[in-house]
Amino acid sequence: MSKKSFNPFEMAQAQFDKIAGLLNMDEASRELLRCPLREYHFSIPIKMDDGSSKVFRGFRVQHNDARGPGKGGIRFHPMETIDTVRALSMWMTWKTAVVDIPLGGSKGGVVCDPHNLSPRELEQIARGWVRQLAHNVGPLSDVPAPDVMTSPQIMLWMLDEYEIIHRAKYPGFITGKPVGMGGSLGRVEATGFGLIFTVREALKELGIKPEDTIASVEGFGNVAQYAIRLFNEIGGTVTAVSCWDQEDNTAYSFRKKDGIVIDQLLSVTDRFGGINKNKARDLGYEVLPGDEWIEQDVDILIPAALENEITAENVGKISPRVKIIAEGANGPTSPEADEVIKNRGIFIIPDLLANAGGVTCSYFEQVQNSMNYYWQKDEVLGRLDIKMTNAFIAVSELAKKRKLYMRDAAFVIAINRVAQACKDRGWI
Ligand code: GLU
Repeated sequence: MSKKSFNPFEMAQAQFDKIAGLLNMDEASRELLRCPLREYHFSIPIKMDDGSSKVFRGFRVQHNDARGPGKGGIRFHPMETIDTVRALSMWMTWKTAVVDIPLGGSKGGVVCDPHNLSPRELEQIARGWVRQLAHNVGPLSDVPAPDVMTSPQIMLWMLDEYEIIHRAKYPGFITGKPVGMGGSLGRVEATGFGLIFTVREALKELGIKPEDTIASVEGFGNVAQYAIRLFNEIGGTVTAVSCWDQEDNTAYSFRKKDGIVIDQLLSVTDRFGGINKNKARDLGYEVLPGDEWIEQDVDILIPAALENEITAENVGKISPRVKIIAEGANGPTSPEADEVIKNRGIFIIPDLLANAGGVTCSYFEQVQNSMNYYWQKDEVLGRLDIKMTNAFIAVSELAKKRKLYMRDAAFVIAINRVAQACKDRGWI
């Protein structure tokens, strides 16, 4: 599948069909689970700062809520499509199931480019999104959160709009809120840290010490930044990161052979994870073409940007030294590339498991909102570690027992749980 013809929903359905076959699933369950339960498509008209009007397309897709309220982020992205949101909503269903939290799967999006929007315009889009959906989402039905290019501030605007409409306080309507305004300590770190908890467990299983490993990371947004920080803390070195440069509309990889220094790179990074290449060069970083992150001579690859980044075209460039691929992004590996990775025997920590730390912490945020009592950061991250480690061990034990690829084992656990919930409720 080339980059252009890539359809993430077809990929998500193909993944599901394969596992449904493996599980001998009945026809009705297959039909129910391979499509979303509900979807909303709408327009958000906005008055721009220059006085003109613009209309943005918005979506919310609720894939499945048999195990609990739908859960999943909202992306603001110029290339957002309904099929991307459908795929992401399905992946959320499997993600919440594999870490065994009592939530379902949803996803939302707006076709827009936050780089070119003022804070006031962004606020209008955020509030407009909620106005369109205020009666179809909620703390007990479908709970949004941040994702690519949406922030705690955007979550707070959305919460405020929801509470104005419903005339009461519903802090559990949305997660990823700012700390002090119903947000949870540890939520910003959660996805990146959760990813490294699973990497730590994988290294344990392979008998490799973290301090003997080097990683290369694609992306420098929220997930990548905190993953790098914790990876460094457990002793690992990151020698390359790649990110998108808005000015040139091109990606670059930044390399420092003796290890990038996260705080140094952050000092020359914008709020969307774009690194200023001239300033990075001044700091001693090599500036390489964007796709070079994948061909680095490292032990661990961490794709933490967008979907369909490891493809049939570039999978052959992965160094023979690579032992682990930990998927921080959702759907970063195409099915063709996945086959190659599987045959090469690389240990994959699949997205639904590897990046589930964010939604797990969102669940903790909702629990704290319900109690109206807030935990210390150590408590949040400690609980997150337990959840991620337990989920990792369950997947890797099944993989060993049934001789399954890690991705398939994770899907088997997740899809079984969701199919069972649909049966238990009497839907099927
Ligand atoms: N957007 C994140 C994800 O893809 C988090 C979702 C959430 O917290 O609900 O997992």
